[in-house]
Amino acid sequence: FFLVLEGGEGAGKSTQAAALAEWIRARGHEVVVSREPGGTPVGGRVREIVLDPATGALVPEAEALLYAADRAQHVGTVVRPALERGAVVISDRYVDSSLAYQGAGRQLLVDDVARLSRWATGGLVPDLTVVLDLPAAVGAERRRVRDGGAGDRLEAEPDDFHDRVRRSFLELAAAAPQRYLVVDASQSAEQVTEQLCQRLCGVLPL
Ligand code: C5P
Repeated sequence: FFLVLEGGEGAGKSTQAAALAEWIRARGHEVVVSREPGGTPVGGRVREIVLDPATGALVPEAEALLYAADRAQHVGTVVRPALERGAVVISDRYVDSSLAYQGAGRQLLVDDVARLSRWATGGLVPDLTVVLDLPAAVGAERRRVRDGGAGDRLEAEPDDFHDRVRRSFLELAAAAPQRYLVVDASQSAEQVTEQLCQRLCGVLPL
């Protein structure tokens, strides 16, 4: 079972990934928690390039290709092998992040980004994608508090960039409701986890 958590900054993706992993493991399944960018050694180096402010401006196409390289390595060496041995994989971000950030955010053609992602992943589609939805300003504030003001390259983007990203996640979810769950991430972490577990009860072979 391939579960993906999506959402903007400060939406609580990594907190939920850890909570869900614990809940699923307690039911006797192997769980692999991973993330993009940076879920592999190669991906870790890509993450440094795409997020370090010292990299300076990246041409949007170059940025999209770097995220695709990270994803190809992640799917090839972590996600597919785990799924093939029957593990539950929880990925913090996946293809929809590229559609939202490189497509809607950077305003590349979404079809191009989708095609690139399909190629990079061999067409691997999540069984369920959770969108942790939060107004961009709330997420940015949570992130500032958490990171003590040490921002990454994306933090300099104007609010309308992050608004486009948020809208894009919601549109993707609305287009395929059977494969998505949208949760209001302004609730407490415990409330969010509770809603995710309820939905997973219905779809995971637990
Ligand atoms: O949430 P996480 O720390 O994984 O995200 C790192 C950064 O990478 C965020 O600032 C996010 O906006 C950015 N990102 C991106 N395009 C992606 C994935 C992440 O711009 N495809």
